[in-house]
Amino acid sequence: MTDVVLTHMHMDHIGGLLVDGVKEQLRPDLRIHVAAAEVKFWAAPDFTETSMPEGFPDALRASAKRFVHEYRNQLRTFEERHEVAPGVVVTRTGGHTPGHSVVRLSSGGERLMFAGDAVFAVGFDHPDWHNGFEHDPKESARVRVELLRELAATGEQLVATHMPFPSVGHVAVDGKLFRWVPAVWDY
Ligand SMILES: [Zn+2]
Repeated sequence: MTDVVLTHMHMDHIGGLLVDGVKEQLRPDLRIHVAAAEVKFWAAPDFTETSMPEGFPDALRASAKRFVHEYRNQLRTFEERHEVAPGVVVTRTGGHTPGHSVVRLSSGGERLMFAGDAVFAVGFDHPDWHNGFEHDPKESARVRVELLRELAATGEQLVATHMPFPSVGHVAVDGKLFRWVPAVWDY
């Protein structure tokens, strides 16, 4: 593994790199791509717009701090858009966190978006709803609707972290309503 792309620095998205013994198994020249805005945000994170269970803000703060400390030399930050490799482009969306980003993959005429935490299952019926883990609720909703419209228009595949198994599907739209069309699990 030569490169890791982070959509954002919530603990459920960086925690795998913090498991005991993992870092020692990684290449010393591993590159971890993350938006500059995300690293900056977690230096002094703002939770005023969030609504999380007790203990979560402290746990999120602590894991992000530890992550930056452990992987400082591996971080490769970008501003708005970065081509990690041919056909692998990461773009900052903001919203969920200020540096939240999505990854667009293209290969042999096929396309897929890895949308991180920009889209949740409930976001299809109510894309304007936000959840308590979104640091900028209004911007999160705006980003979500924009991405769902793009996905419906292109017909490309969507993968989002918290969508139900198999977490791969397409987006259909009818007026202002979006629908999740799961891929058939045939592997
Ligand atoms: Zn998150």
